[in-house]
Amino acid sequence: MARSLLLAIVTLFCTCLAAPAQAAPATVTWYGHAAFKVVTPSGKVLLVDPWISNPSNPHAKRDLDELQQVDLIFLTHGHTDHIGDSVEIAKKTGAKLVGTFDLQKAMVAYKEFPEQQIDRATAGSFGGTISLLDGEVSVLFVPAVHGGSMDTANGPVYAGHPGGFLISVKGGPRIYHTGDTDLFNDMLLLKGQVDIMLLCIGDKFTMGPVRAAQAVDLVRPKMAVPMHFGTFPALTGTPQQFNDELKKRGLQKLLRQMRVGETLSWR
Ligand SMILES: [Zn+2]
Repeated sequence: MARSLLLAIVTLFCTCLAAPAQAAPATVTWYGHAAFKVVTPSGKVLLVDPWISNPSNPHAKRDLDELQQVDLIFLTHGHTDHIGDSVEIAKKTGAKLVGTFDLQKAMVAYKEFPEQQIDRATAGSFGGTISLLDGEVSVLFVPAVHGGSMDTANGPVYAGHPGGFLISVKGGPRIYHTGDTDLFNDMLLLKGQVDIMLLCIGDKFTMGPVRAAQAVDLVRPKMAVPMHFGTFPALTGTPQQFNDELKKRGLQKLLRQMRVGETLSWR
């Protein structure tokens, strides 16, 4: 009797060991402005436009210190508020830069991004899809309607056409980060392909709440997360105005307002 009980316990123990561990959910963290972190189910860390030390983030130093492992840094364009802390993070972590060929070259030439972390495998351009991290992540380069210069000590230089990314995570969400952009009708072509839309609503330099709501109407994501507002006084669009505009279109259920520092889990 005791022997059969022991056998049963051993069998149960072995079964538990052999069972595949349940994959962790993908997560999305907002640092304020246009800066996001995505962690894949296998634990790879992606940053998009990582201006972690933006004025709306009260925990910038802690957040930067905590970024010890970063695999990929995505930059939508060369403006200072999007390059952000990417060079410091890249030097610390060895992260590779995902962006257009022009932006990659400008980052090395003018911003001291480590050249060995610029790779043709992580370069692309609009309409192209690249596969990264052994196929766990695929990235479609999407254009944006915005500026493409980069500030240097000698004035602005060309840094490629600005864009956005459709980042598809295996076992996780399909995330459309619009970058800085106006509304454009080709967003409609992404309809049905987006789970989480991270979109600018701040007005003045990008879409404001009205045009952002129109963009949501075109794309119809499962979740629309407003960004690029309130970082400094010039960005006057608010989530409340965005909500009101979504409501006029019967889309308010899609709004998912994140707090700075908040993390979403995606199963
Ligand atoms: Zn910009």
